[in-house]
Amino acid sequence: MRRNLKNDDPGAAFLIVFAARFGYDPVSMPLPKKPHTAWPPSRILPALRHDLLIWYGTHRRDLPWRRTRDPYRIWISEVMLQQTQVTTVIPFYHRFLQRFPDLAALARADIQTVLKHWEGLGYYRRAHHLHRAARELVGSGGGCVPDRHQTFRALPGVGDYIANAVMSIAFDRPCAVVDGNVKRVLARLGGIGDPVNQAAAHRVFQRTADRLLERGCPGTFNQALMELGALVCTPRRPNCPDCPWKASCFAFLNDVTNEFPKRIRKAPVPLHAMVAGVVCHRDRVLVVQRPSEGLLAGLWEFPGGRRHQSETGPEASRRVLSEATGLRVSVARKLIRVNHAYTHFKIELDLYLCRKDSGRVRLDGLQAFRWIRPAELDVLPFTGVCKKFFARLSIESLCHGRRRR
Ligand code: SF4
Repeated sequence: MRRNLKNDDPGAAFLIVFAARFGYDPVSMPLPKKPHTAWPPSRILPALRHDLLIWYGTHRRDLPWRRTRDPYRIWISEVMLQQTQVTTVIPFYHRFLQRFPDLAALARADIQTVLKHWEGLGYYRRAHHLHRAARELVGSGGGCVPDRHQTFRALPGVGDYIANAVMSIAFDRPCAVVDGNVKRVLARLGGIGDPVNQAAAHRVFQRTADRLLERGCPGTFNQALMELGALVCTPRRPNCPDCPWKASCFAFLNDVTNEFPKRIRKAPVPLHAMVAGVVCHRDRVLVVQRPSEGLLAGLWEFPGGRRHQSETGPEASRRVLSEATGLRVSVARKLIRVNHAYTHFKIELDLYLCRKDSGRVRLDGLQAFRWIRPAELDVLPFTGVCKKFFARLSIESLCHGRRRR
């Protein structure tokens, strides 16, 4: 008799699914009380590996970082691909490597140039870490990407995922990768009920990925598994009929693909109201550089800050500009509102056109400032919010417009 799989624990349910295919008899063999700890069972591992690699050989995308074994290029691609879509990464990857073709070139560059080539990709901490790691490696005399996992893992910004990906793809080290795609596939395939967004569950997925890994070609296998998650076992509406693992998949066989992976519900991210000012003065505009540590470190932006609930936008603009830059300004008009999402909060930022009334710039908490010609704005690396302003406003005409009046 079929049990209600949705209400059972995943390990027990998984064994029922495999009964017909692998000779398991749920009547004569007791079902485990706890989820299976050694999934997938050894007997099906060769078939899973074989079927996935055959599928990958036919369906893999031709991506630029798959045409190289250069560990530096693979490292750059893996760092860029964290949190970012493949199609977004491709032009950044080419542009970055054209400017910094090897570790030495990256180490020689100043951080502002590196950030400029990362501009628009987001998560700028990744660029800072890469730059620091390149300088460490070149400074230590080696000047090349270490082929030992432990040494590479100790570099700034290198976590388990990056270390395992680079070690397996560039050096054939038997290290299984676990990213969001991999967790989703494994959760559905094995009916793993541990929440994919809970840190403590990571080891469950890592253990499963370790068991699955084809040690004869770990780099290819890792890429195949991630590719399956990207192309077939997608977050919504997975294309199960075209999946090489459909005959073994717990979620597909039980028609519960939309119930996996499990997630713990997190508190909604807060929304902050912000203001910033375009302060024009003699055909130039004031821009400030954020501190060298913390969020968006070292990037440039228009001066601004949080708006208090009791303030109007113009009141907040006058206050935050005075606090951040020491200038007294008057507000001409509101230019635009943009919304932007960071990892842990969102902002709704109103940009105001302002006139400098008095004072000299004295920064508070910022690194540097420049009165810059609008035509030269693209020399500096700006925050993503400012890039949104530039896409929708002509700062040049705003500054020139003020002078004519
Ligand atoms: Fe994902 Fe469907 Fe393949 Fe299962 S059969 S791994 S749910 S695509």
